[in-house]
Amino acid sequence: MSKVKVAINGFGTIGKRVADAVQMQKDMEIVGISKTKPNFEAFTALDKGYSVYAPADKIKDMEKGGIKASGSIEDMIQAADIVVDCTPGGLGEENKAMYEKAGVKAIWQGGEEHELAGFSFNAVANYEEALGLDFARVVSCNTTGLCRVIYPLDQEFGIKKVRVTLMRRAADPNDVKKGPINAIVPSPIKLPSHHGPDVKSVIPHINITSTAVIVSTTLMHLHSLNIEMNKQCTTDDVVDLFAAQSRIRFVGQGITSTAEIMELGKDLGRPRGDMWENCIWDKSITVTEGELYFFQAIHQESDVIPENVDAIRAMMELESNGARSIEKTNKVMGI
Ligand code: NAD
Repeated sequence: MSKVKVAINGFGTIGKRVADAVQMQKDMEIVGISKTKPNFEAFTALDKGYSVYAPADKIKDMEKGGIKASGSIEDMIQAADIVVDCTPGGLGEENKAMYEKAGVKAIWQGGEEHELAGFSFNAVANYEEALGLDFARVVSCNTTGLCRVIYPLDQEFGIKKVRVTLMRRAADPNDVKKGPINAIVPSPIKLPSHHGPDVKSVIPHINITSTAVIVSTTLMHLHSLNIEMNKQCTTDDVVDLFAAQSRIRFVGQGITSTAEIMELGKDLGRPRGDMWENCIWDKSITVTEGELYFFQAIHQESDVIPENVDAIRAMMELESNGARSIEKTNKVMGI
């Protein structure tokens, strides 16, 4: 069977990771990636064997910078069955017109609104609903991390309400333009934050409210969760449930911070030191007076990567069963 042809529009933090993960799979391949500038990422893409495309008006500049583009972004899309749009949030609407014109399926990222795609994806929560869709949005890193714990808890015990505080990284490690470098910033000050409602774009019936602060770190986000369930359960019940989830990793063994989790990612030999799973301190999992508490850390640059692979598989109907797609993706990536 021929492989599904995937184009990556926007080859930054998320795009380059999705490209590498797709290229590893048996049932899909990269037909091209797009770059707007002839920078080190464009050269690395060529070194890796990806065909590099560019906006039509930038092809000459790319060539001057030493990158021979294979064509325009429109040309790249023509060659694809599905495009994964990893451009900065806000470009989605403009790009959607281009994808519709080319008759190509598209996946956006969490920087776009739910309404753009009309469907928000998380592999464990709603894979089967994405089968054959033309457009979908893989939800943000934080929403992905929340769905991975909320969905199984809701299935098992029924969720009455979720209250979560997100401590968000200020910038990605390669981002020299954002801060703060020495402050904690309530963001937004007007509560609640948008993160809770975004979970409802995937699991609509969940009662969830969130608050968020930005902290001076580039490494990971950290969530402090408080959840009330309908059915009674113990700490051990929750530990057992989370232990059975393939995209949840328990951390302990002297790991007391996000810094040590990122070190673990490097020690495991993960590409770029990535940590694709939710990292939960199992010792933090506590059920007291009928309420569940725990901490989880989310690697913002990488937790959505396996979700993008599964979204491609669902939309292209390469696999009808979500659990089997997750297994395939995990196996190839080493999750
Ligand atoms: P990024 O800035 O690292 O990468 C975006 C890339 O798109 C850059 O290489 C940029 O040059 C390129 N680009 C800009 N305009 C373009 C255009 N018109 N056509 C083609 N390419 C263009 O951004 P990112 O962090 O990878 O974010 C991409 C999307 O993923 C956003 O929706 C974001 O919200 C979402 N997301 C980001 C993170 C994260 O923590 N970085 C996590 C989850 C989801």
